[in-house]
Amino acid sequence: MTQCAMLSPREGKAAVATHCPYCALQCGMRVRGGDSPEVWGDEGFPVNRGQLCIKGYTSAAALGHPDRLVMPLVRGADGKLHAASWDEALGFVCRRLSAIRQERGADAVGVFGSGALTNEKAYLLGKLARVALGTSNIDYNGRYCMSSAAAACNQALGVDRGLPFPLEDICRAEVVLLAGANVAETMPPLMRYFEAQRSRGGHLIVVDPRRSKTAEAATHHLCVVPGSDGALAHGLLHVLVRDGLVDAEYIEKRTEGFERVRALVAGYWPERVERITGVPEAQLVEVAHLLGRARSVMVLTGRGPEQQAQGVAQTLAYINLALAVGAVGRPFSGYGCLTGQGNGQGGREHGQKADQLPGYRRIDDPAARRHLAQVWGIPESSLPGPGRSAYEMLSSLGRPDGISALLVFGSNLVVSSPDASAIEERLRALDLLVVADFFLSETAKLAHVVLPSAQWAEEDGTLTNLEGRVILRQKAVSPPPGVKTDLEILCALAAGLGHGERFAYRGAEDVFDELRRATAGGVADYSGITWERLRAERGIFWPCPSPGHPGTPRLFTETFPTPNGRARFSAVAHAGPAEEPDEAYPLYLTTGRMMPHYQSGTQTRRIEKLLALAPEATVQMHPSVARAHALEDGDEVTLSTRRGSARFRVQLSAAIREDTLFVPFHWGGEHSANLLTHPALDPQSRMPEFKVCAVRLEAPSHREEGHT
Ligand code: SF4
Repeated sequence: MTQCAMLSPREGKAAVATHCPYCALQCGMRVRGGDSPEVWGDEGFPVNRGQLCIKGYTSAAALGHPDRLVMPLVRGADGKLHAASWDEALGFVCRRLSAIRQERGADAVGVFGSGALTNEKAYLLGKLARVALGTSNIDYNGRYCMSSAAAACNQALGVDRGLPFPLEDICRAEVVLLAGANVAETMPPLMRYFEAQRSRGGHLIVVDPRRSKTAEAATHHLCVVPGSDGALAHGLLHVLVRDGLVDAEYIEKRTEGFERVRALVAGYWPERVERITGVPEAQLVEVAHLLGRARSVMVLTGRGPEQQAQGVAQTLAYINLALAVGAVGRPFSGYGCLTGQGNGQGGREHGQKADQLPGYRRIDDPAARRHLAQVWGIPESSLPGPGRSAYEMLSSLGRPDGISALLVFGSNLVVSSPDASAIEERLRALDLLVVADFFLSETAKLAHVVLPSAQWAEEDGTLTNLEGRVILRQKAVSPPPGVKTDLEILCALAAGLGHGERFAYRGAEDVFDELRRATAGGVADYSGITWERLRAERGIFWPCPSPGHPGTPRLFTETFPTPNGRARFSAVAHAGPAEEPDEAYPLYLTTGRMMPHYQSGTQTRRIEKLLALAPEATVQMHPSVARAHALEDGDEVTLSTRRGSARFRVQLSAAIREDTLFVPFHWGGEHSANLLTHPALDPQSRMPEFKVCAVRLEAPSHREEGHT
């Protein structure tokens, strides 16, 4: 396959232009192969202009890591994993899958994907599930990440593209309201856009229960009670309506449903909102006036308001705000959500969701089913219907009417699922668990078969970053001998299940060409994008419906893709979290990320430089809370919720609310934040409530002894 090999001015050596393995910013990087591959930022890629965060800079360390899996592993009669050949491992998997399908039906097999998979992998995983396995049960870990924002965007704006504008537009927004995203830690190169916005005199308003690094860089910090975003957004809109600062002309011409929202927010007067959210009335009014008087306003959300059992409602409340000030579709303005995982955007477009077919088509849409059946060369009647969403699928594992066999690609479910000990128990109840990964993750350790797969720089593929920009991540080094790419594994499984002829590809580009046909005419239309164009143009924004089409950096400038072309206001009352602090569990617990680590930490917990920065799981707490529990900085403490207990090292900080504890979710075992989190699901997106639950601090044993 042709690669874009070029001389780097920095190193003067041949290097491949590719992209970071981690987050949705998908920073451009150059990789020079060899015994110890080197990585540096690509100054020619517009998103990061040469900047990388510490995770990107150290990403090459995972490639030749001694923990790499280089042979398939199969669990033997002694209960241990043993090295096996590919023929043995794949033969065993296919025989077991066929037997389980025959005994219990196709839906007894589940497939679990990831927002880290390339577009080609996500597409082929969906095709494997629907065509070769015939199961309706496929979903992915993006259900844990983006599903609330996706549902809200589809409902309000008619389409889900995280940012409907390029990042460069942030620089020229007069006011940006950023809710529940600590980008200074999670996506540091993104901060240059906010810094440029501030340097032009712009206001940056950050909503967060912690004075995070991002909040420190803001002009305003709204230090909300966890789980209260909906009330905050309604309160801001209350003030805008009360003080005549909504854009009546825009509302009249481009939206529908405002009157119901006006009636709803009348009940969110500032004193009441202060009681719910903890945000002082004067600050609420000041921020509302900034939003109402600016010529260009952006409202951006992250996982803070979204990863809650009210995630869709809270995101809709923020979209209401953006619509009310006439921001959506205007220059340097709008609503957007900051996608987290590397291919969180593309991963939710191409058919690895329970209710979806490629191109962001619905699986229950007859026209979409006809189109895909024709592309895949199968009768429409053989296409399964909608299946279980991620957490519901996991909850059914090993149950008589549930899933008996699960294939996992690119996910570490034991660490990333809420109420993690319950999920581990369900995984252990399976007749067959197959995990494809490049390290022996906590989930792979439970598998019957582990398939060693290639990493990002060892294979070609496309991803779609948080702006909706499709990019080509190029292969820079060869995978270790004995390792296959996920695409090779998926095709081998399909062949072993008797569907080889429908999975005969010449490589990833060939898969992409089929994906283009599959998405043609869909919401996320990639049919005009080719790998050749991606190499030349360094990214194309979808929709791109024909080869001559320039792509679509900005959506909604004229109309919305809704039946009547109008955006929809949504009147949803604020309901609060599923579990509030009480006498037994008196504090809020919130979870999130820290700079050196990524998601479940499978890669980053193995990289020395990152571990040196954050060697263990910590709990951030206010000094007053520590004093009340006789705790000191560095003590080890147990946190307990109604789901379980986990241990963390105390980190004192006056930057967090006194009623809230924060723990990162990058660790497994007894340090897993998800032993504590609440599995309540949003009724629409099925997103679990990762961001808020009630927690109790257990004093360390030596201090308890001291007190008695
Ligand atoms: Fe990689 Fe994200 Fe860091 Fe960029 S910000 S280097 S994409 S982890």
